[in-house]
Amino acid sequence: MNASIPDGAKVTVVGAGIMGRGIAHAFAVRGYPTVLFDVKGAALDDALGNIRKIVSDAVGLGKLTEETAERTLSLITPASDLAAAAAGSDLVVETASEQLAVKIDIIRTIDAVVAADAVIATNTSALSITEIAAASARPARVAGMHFFNPVHKMKLVEIIRGLATDDGVVERLKAWSDALGKTSIVVNEAPGFTTSRMSAMLGNEAMYMLESGVASAEDIDTALRLGLGHPMGPLELGDMTGWDTRLAVLQYLHQSLGEKFRPCPLIAKMVKSGRTGRKAGHGVYRYENGTKVPGSGLLGSN
Ligand code: NAD
Repeated sequence: MNASIPDGAKVTVVGAGIMGRGIAHAFAVRGYPTVLFDVKGAALDDALGNIRKIVSDAVGLGKLTEETAERTLSLITPASDLAAAAAGSDLVVETASEQLAVKIDIIRTIDAVVAADAVIATNTSALSITEIAAASARPARVAGMHFFNPVHKMKLVEIIRGLATDDGVVERLKAWSDALGKTSIVVNEAPGFTTSRMSAMLGNEAMYMLESGVASAEDIDTALRLGLGHPMGPLELGDMTGWDTRLAVLQYLHQSLGEKFRPCPLIAKMVKSGRTGRKAGHGVYRYENGTKVPGSGLLGSN
């Protein structure tokens, strides 16, 4: 398989949530025609609005020319039919909700319509690439391509090799990551890969500390930022990731790696109450117009 990316190679991104919109922007801003699909029309509308904001902020900061901004927006096509969207794609990136059954359904639909040499990637945070790939008649062409939030700022792409993944597919995904200006690493399949496993552990421990009243949310986040040099505190990060996604990841890691990943009950409580984080306007902190409200963090002993 040739590892260079042809000009005009077509990409389809499946799922237009927090990650899908960022991933679609990442391909389009580098000049690749990108189709964005979601089962919810409202998610697509939100995504396009969000991408317009990323692009106009970049123009305002002098990081993007007006011309590239217009080209970026013109290269993104929203779609409401997955099979039609994926047909003719060189690369499909699945980034729908973190549920195995959802991902398997999507892979089956894509598999039936893309060319034999197309690559199918999944942005799952933790699930088994081998299990997802088994939904394809050609599991060799399926791999993990794990992006980070917010995609337009985060430099890493974690490429995950499933049991059947072809070496050529890994090389193609490295070439795609280069084309996006990202740094890639290659990981052999393991629950949570390198990043999600670490991040889930840290976020879960921070929630246990909050739940047992060790310190307030603000103080736990400040401790990690100023004491340990993390760019964000683990509770702010959980709000940005979405506690529903974080809970699904922890449940999977608990089931596959054992007790040390048992999800903190406070996370389940927050998800049940709809406080999933920034996307809901309320998580550990409250948000107004996308900005964290100072002093709104949980105080502990909740
Ligand atoms: P999200 O909840 O913001 O968005 C998920 C989107 O998937 C929704 O718009 C939903 O309508 C859509 N969807 C559900 N079923 C679908 C289907 N059958 N076909 C197409 N779209 C469908 O979630 P997210 O945070 O964007 O996460 C998406 C994926 O990316 C998950 O696998 C998650 O684990 C992974 N991920 C998330 C982060 C993060 O920080 N949030 C980081 C890396 C990877």
